[in-house]
Amino acid sequence: MHFCIVGAGFSGAVTARHLADRGHDITVLDERPHSGGNCHTVRDPRTGIMLHQYGPHIFHTAQKHVWQYVQRFGRFAPYINRVKAVSQGRLYTLPITLLTINQFFGRTMSPAEARAFIRQQAVQTITEPRNFEEQALHMIGPALYEAFFRGYTTKQWGLPPSALPASILRRLPVRFNYDDNYFSHPYQGIPVDGYTALTDSILDHPRISVHLGTSFEDFQTWGQTDHVLYTGPLDRYFRFCHGRLGYRTLDFERIDAEGDHQGTAVINYCDEAIPYTRITEHKHFAPWEASRFNRTVCFREYSRLAGPDDAPYYPIRLATETAMLDRYIRTAMTTEKVSFLGRLGTYRYLDMDVTISEALRACQIMDDHLALKKPF
Ligand code: FAD
Repeated sequence: MHFCIVGAGFSGAVTARHLADRGHDITVLDERPHSGGNCHTVRDPRTGIMLHQYGPHIFHTAQKHVWQYVQRFGRFAPYINRVKAVSQGRLYTLPITLLTINQFFGRTMSPAEARAFIRQQAVQTITEPRNFEEQALHMIGPALYEAFFRGYTTKQWGLPPSALPASILRRLPVRFNYDDNYFSHPYQGIPVDGYTALTDSILDHPRISVHLGTSFEDFQTWGQTDHVLYTGPLDRYFRFCHGRLGYRTLDFERIDAEGDHQGTAVINYCDEAIPYTRITEHKHFAPWEASRFNRTVCFREYSRLAGPDDAPYYPIRLATETAMLDRYIRTAMTTEKVSFLGRLGTYRYLDMDVTISEALRACQIMDDHLALKKPF
């Protein structure tokens, strides 16, 4: 069979490779001039530093098969994400750990003392939190909520935390020890040659032809295929017939400096008065080579509602979007010869490891259907 795969990010690359290995012919399209999707990395022509063009990406997973899968295509160096946060002019460590709690309250509490102290801080009258703000007040109390979450979350989502679902905060850990590893997954690292080298390597197969700088809309005028795997925006495939699904986008403001600008890869800015959410210094994402560079490159990150011509980053998924999404899903279910995959095709925030495991799972489902000669 011939498959057209729209998108050369992880979703597209992993499915393309699997189907090519099974003997199918694959045309992969991406309208951008590179593979890797939003994980794209490129050496800065001015400094040689590896830049994560659409925002920093750290690979972390608890899924051993996904970790083994990515190792087949590129070498990973160990990397631990240790995030710092500035609040009210002072610097702390994130996620909230025993160090954050002791520094913030000017104490030297043990784990048990801190646990009891935070229990006292928590707003006892909230028993079933209905939104982000109530969840935070219920978990950590007003002081830590105001310092670390209210302003940051408002900037990130453009909405007060009381308008956001509680589920966003449930994912953030509070630790009563000094473990400042942002992620708790056992496997964590960054590909030594960058993510784009990794996706290029996944796509490197004689049965795969990759067309960069080519949109699906272009392909429809010259190409023919038996089945489309579409990893672009779901609403765009259907020409926005039910309206536009809402996204947040990011603007990056570049800072060039000598030496070391902030001494670490990520510093979050929690106060609402500071318009950016964080500053990332990209050479620190590659500690194995950082000392080679005399210069440094940082980016201030600003979040805003995406307009029609902006890159879609974070799906908003509030009530209006969920209702619209349901209509798109119903339309997609009745459309033949196309399957939707990935963060844009399914309108969800997905980490890279989840993206890869979902793509591998989709391949298994396709194998089953192809074996039975059933359409999918
Ligand atoms: P994408 O990477 O978006 O790829 C889709 C591709 O389709 C794009 O290249 C696009 O150009 C192309 N396309 C779309 N429409 C068309 C069309 N009509 N024609 C042709 N091409 C088209 N995950 C982590 O695990 N760790 C992190 O640290 C992390 N950090 C992140 C930081 C930010 C700021 C963001 C937004 C996400 C982060 N993620 C992180 C998530 C990660 O980016 C996603 O898991 C991953 O990009 C999903 O891959 P994908 O292939 O589904 O989508």
